[in-house]
Amino acid sequence: MIYSVRMRAAQGGRHEDGGRHISGAECLVDFSKINKSIEEMVQRATFHTRGQADFINITVEAVTENEVVYAPLLPITTEEVSDVVSGRQAARRALLQAGVTLTAVELGFQSLLLLKDSMRGAMLICATTGQRLDQSGLRGVRVSRMDSFNEIAFSKQLKAMALENTHTKEALLLASKVAAAPGVVAELCWSDDPEYTTGYVASQAGYIRLPHLKRYGDTLGGRIFFVRPEVSVDQLIEYLENQPVLITTDRER
Ligand code: AMP
Repeated sequence: MIYSVRMRAAQGGRHEDGGRHISGAECLVDFSKINKSIEEMVQRATFHTRGQADFINITVEAVTENEVVYAPLLPITTEEVSDVVSGRQAARRALLQAGVTLTAVELGFQSLLLLKDSMRGAMLICATTGQRLDQSGLRGVRVSRMDSFNEIAFSKQLKAMALENTHTKEALLLASKVAAAPGVVAELCWSDDPEYTTGYVASQAGYIRLPHLKRYGDTLGGRIFFVRPEVSVDQLIEYLENQPVLITTDRER
């Protein structure tokens, strides 16, 4: 048996009552690691660069081994860009290359840039028309129940690329789960952590890190999953939110 541990934290009350989203985290761990995971999540919500949370919700749920599916870690590359303008141009190119139309790329960027504050989850946007497909409004769809299959092998692989930090680890696990979803064409993300400017474009072809996708100090982050027009949105959301997925590295395949 493994356990899904999830945290969401807000300031000014619960998210449902209009509290401002501060932080979220998720992992799939053995029983013996539940306490440590909770401790780390509380720390993170309490001392976050976006502010101090006054509402922290932690959920622990058992997951049976036969519910788990496996997905490969995406291959990682970094495209060196010198500033936000070239970073966003590179992101646009990568999205087009992955099969998102120009209209959808532009409407996607607009949706992120028009946000007044960060969402807790992601927008599902049609990769052809650029229309928003989910009904989750300012909450967004939150991907959950994913982790590395083997934490040591995963960390080792990232360390070899000098990428062993929490932001990259979590983003890679999420992006690998998302890219494995039927109907997802590509993902665009930049962080809501004001000190972290690196964002990425991911697709089944790989995870492209872009060191400048927003300006230093900017607290606005966001995520878009560009999906095929024929996708069943309900089934996709069910997979993203509930399907337990363990991400495997090269060595484990
Ligand atoms: P982060 O990379 O954690 O700073 O998150 C950047 C943005 O991605 C957030 O503002 C949310 O909109 C979105 N996001 C964060 N975590 C998730 C998640 N688990 N599932 C979907 N979207 C997320």
